[in-house]
Amino acid sequence: MKVEKAKVRIKCDASGCNNLSDYAIVNKKFVFDGSVYLCESCMKSLYKEIGKFTIPKNLKPLYKKGGNNE
Ligand SMILES: [Zn+2]
Repeated sequence: MKVEKAKVRIKCDASGCNNLSDYAIVNKKFVFDGSVYLCESCMKSLYKEIGKFTIPKNLKPLYKKGGNNE
């Protein structure tokens, strides 16, 4: 599974969205040999949804003692 910048700007695959795609989700392991094309805004909302279940390691909150705000 890879996410790439879309090489061709075709219509976003999200239903009801008429934007042109900015990103392509490429997965050769799927039964179908295709890519999913998503526009910037659908990509962001998808990312938010994914964030409910998976937190990227580099975005984990850092806990500090004392709670100093600088
Ligand atoms: Zn879209």
